[in-house]
Amino acid sequence: MANEDYPVYADITGPIVMIGFGSIGRGTLPLIERHFTFDKSRLTVVDPNERHRAQVDAHGYRFVKEAVTRENYEALLTPLLTNGEGQGFCVNLSVDTSSLDLMKLCRKLGVLYIDTVVEPWLGFYYDEELRNEERTNYRLRDAVQREKLANPGGTTAVSCCGANPGMVSWFVKQALLDIARDTGIETPEPAAGDRAAWAALMRQVGVKGIHVAERDTQYAPTQKPIGVFRNTWSVDGFLSEGMQPAELGWGTHEKWLPATARKHSRGSRAAIFLEQPGANTRVRTWCPTPGPQFGYLVTHNEAISLADYFTVRSGSGEVQFRPTCHYAYHPCNDAVLSLNELFGAAGKFQPVHELMTEEVLVEGVDELGVLLFGHEKNAYWYGSRLSLAEARQLAPFQNATALQVTSAVLTGMVWALENPERGIVETEEMDFHRCLEIQKPYLGPVEGIFTDWTPLTDRPGLFDEDLDMDDPWQFKNILVR
Ligand code: NAD
Repeated sequence: MANEDYPVYADITGPIVMIGFGSIGRGTLPLIERHFTFDKSRLTVVDPNERHRAQVDAHGYRFVKEAVTRENYEALLTPLLTNGEGQGFCVNLSVDTSSLDLMKLCRKLGVLYIDTVVEPWLGFYYDEELRNEERTNYRLRDAVQREKLANPGGTTAVSCCGANPGMVSWFVKQALLDIARDTGIETPEPAAGDRAAWAALMRQVGVKGIHVAERDTQYAPTQKPIGVFRNTWSVDGFLSEGMQPAELGWGTHEKWLPATARKHSRGSRAAIFLEQPGANTRVRTWCPTPGPQFGYLVTHNEAISLADYFTVRSGSGEVQFRPTCHYAYHPCNDAVLSLNELFGAAGKFQPVHELMTEEVLVEGVDELGVLLFGHEKNAYWYGSRLSLAEARQLAPFQNATALQVTSAVLTGMVWALENPERGIVETEEMDFHRCLEIQKPYLGPVEGIFTDWTPLTDRPGLFDEDLDMDDPWQFKNILVR
């Protein structure tokens, strides 16, 4: 089965198992149907919640109403993933299932795998027995990196391939090339797999840091009621990451450490974390529509993986250059109000969680890009400015936020099918030209814009502030204190 109006990228020869059928899962399924041929009788969705089951039943797919758990995952998934001939594909779009355990199982079975975050088993995010260091994405990623080192190569498992983490890493490479071009740097483009050359180019261009700078202006027709947490994607997902410690890739140009900053004692040490929740940590950033804005420094895998990927080391392994890197997220206004209410109530969660779907939302844009700053031309934002109206036209069952994610999942699946023996990969390691070629039709306007804004613009105002006036791009000037 395939749709004649859309390019069919590959044939999936074995079974497809989609774990989790929430806002991202239900938006991804129609893209799989459009862009792959596969055996309809061997597509299974596994989710303990049946709220979107009708969409699965309507196409004759199998729905298994079950939670994937630490105890049952091997017995539950193995027969589904090995059902019949060909190579299977596991698409993990759930919460509370261990990405590491699932990718290990898939690789053992020779089944392709993709997810959008390094997700842990149920209970991890709010485990009061764990130290904050143990609740970081750094630790989750480090476990995947250790597995990658211990078992290199083999069946491809794409780690963290959503919008962010995911697509934004392809944006960073395009942005870097654009800045190099516009500042007269004539170094040839590094090869896709040449990490050291990409890191060297980042240093040569003079980038000090990267914000994944996002502004979501989508809104609902009614005012957010008290006691309701609203968001344009999973409220549970947002709360889980928002209550983790804030984390950021830590650049070599930084001269000042916040009092709550902590370093890691093992692994790449590309990142630090703050002893405070990311969803209550604000930074100054910039997006094209609003210009300067506050964003939340919510922890994300890409803050660590980008900083790690673009690190320049000497022959003896000493770090010579690394950009600072973090998320700077202004969610939709209702989510900002929801966070304000939540932290005003000492972190107590609202009893009602409301996902604002494409059916509810009125209009707005999810502007999601990367801001590369500190170079000769100051700062450059490159990203997707996808509107709700355009998202509705492009694909069913999703708003602008979700389509940026689901189209990245589609892209990662195509890449895995074209590169089935690459082992565990992060999106920085993929061919970004090929990836953006596949994904761009779903991203609305994708634009690069230079800005002369810095975190020192219009500061200090009426009140004195403790600023670093010598270097605008110090984290000291970016963090709202
Ligand atoms: P969602 O809450 O809408 O859906 C999650 C689904 O998983 C739900 O249907 C839930 O019932 C199901 N689920 C829960 N426990 C399960 C289990 N044990 N086994 C199987 N299914 C289970 O969330 P979403 O918005 O669809 O997000 C899904 C995942 O994608 C989350 O991990 C989220 O963090 C991630 N995400 C990544 C990006 C990105 O850009 N990288 C963006 C958005 C979401």
